[in-house]
Amino acid sequence: MTTVAFLGLGAIGTPMARHLAARDLGLRVWNRTAAKAAAFAAAHGATHAATPRAAAAGADVIITCFPVSGDVAALLDGPDGLLAGLAAGATLVDCTSGDPATSQRIAAQCAARGVRFLDCPVSGGVAGAEKGELTVMVGGDAATLEAVRPVLEVFGKRIVHCGAIGAGDAVKAVNNALLAIHLWSAAEGLVALRQAGVAPEVALDVINASSGRSNASMNLFPERVLTRAFPRTFRLALLDKDIGIAAQVAREQKVAAPLLQLTADLFRAAHVAMGEEADHVEVVKYVEQLAGARIG
Ligand code: NDP
Repeated sequence: MTTVAFLGLGAIGTPMARHLAARDLGLRVWNRTAAKAAAFAAAHGATHAATPRAAAAGADVIITCFPVSGDVAALLDGPDGLLAGLAAGATLVDCTSGDPATSQRIAAQCAARGVRFLDCPVSGGVAGAEKGELTVMVGGDAATLEAVRPVLEVFGKRIVHCGAIGAGDAVKAVNNALLAIHLWSAAEGLVALRQAGVAPEVALDVINASSGRSNASMNLFPERVLTRAFPRTFRLALLDKDIGIAAQVAREQKVAAPLLQLTADLFRAAHVAMGEEADHVEVVKYVEQLAGARIG
C-alpha cells in the first residue's frame, strides 16, 4: 500500500487532502497551525503528525502545498524537518505554486538523500480541488511522475508533464500572469464602458461571444464582480507572487517581457493597498479606485 503525507492545509490544500483521506492511503497530515490538522484528522480519519519529520517518516509520497517555495525549503532542515523523516526512495511532490530556482535547490537537497522530487503546482481553484478535477503541471523526471501518477489522480483530472524540474512552476506562473492580465484589462475596459453608458452585463454579453473573452470575463466578472460578492478563494497576495515568478522567469531567460513586468508592478501595488487577506478578484476594486469610477 502506498502511504501518503500531506503538509499545508490551506484553502486549496484542504480539499486536496480530503480526497486523499477518502482513499486507503494511510494519510497523515501536518499543518503549521496544529489545530487545523488535528480537526482535519478527526473529521476525515487521517493521522495528525506533530512535526514535518513525523509526517514524512514511513511515507512513500509526501505532498506539500504552501504559499511559496521558500516555505517548503524552510521545512526541510532541522531535527523535526522533512529531510530527517524522508526515507530513500520516497518522493516529495510539491504542489506549491513555486519558483523554478528554489525547486531546483530543493530537488538537489532531496537527491543527496536518495529522495525524488517533482514540482507539481495545480490549477482549477478551490472549486476544482473540491471536485477532484485539478490540472497538475509537473516538472521533473518522467518515470518518477509515472510512479506517483495514481496519487496525483486522486485530486487531479489532467496531469501534464511540462519538462525538467522547475518547468511545472514556470508554466503555472505564466498561466497565472495571463489570469492577472485578463482580470486587470477587463476591469479597465468595463469601467470605461460603464462611463460611456454601457451596462457591464451588456458589455460582457458581447465580449463573451467574441474574441476578447477569458475565464475572467466568462466566470469571475459575472459571478464575483457584478454581484459584488468577492468570495475569498485565492489570495491576491498569492497571485502577486505568481506574476513576480513569471517576470523573474523571463528575466532569467533574458527574454524582454515588458507586459509581464508591468503586470507584476501593478499587482504588487494592488497587494500592498488591499492587504494580505484580499481575494485576487478584489484587484478590480483597486482598478476602480484608480479610475475613480465603479463597474457596477
Ligand atoms: P493559504 O494561504 O490558504 O494556505 C497556506 C497554507 O500554508 C496554510 O496551511 C498555512 O498554515 C501554511 N503556511 C503559510 N506559511 C507557512 C510557513 N511559513 N510555514 C509553514 N506553513 C505555512 O494558501 P492556498 O492554499 O490558497 O495556496 C497554497 C498554494 O497553492 C500557493 O502556492 C497558491 O499560489 C497555490 N494555489 C492556490 C489556489 C487557490 O485557489 N487558493 C489555486 C491554485 C494554486 P496556517 O494554517 O498555519 O496558516
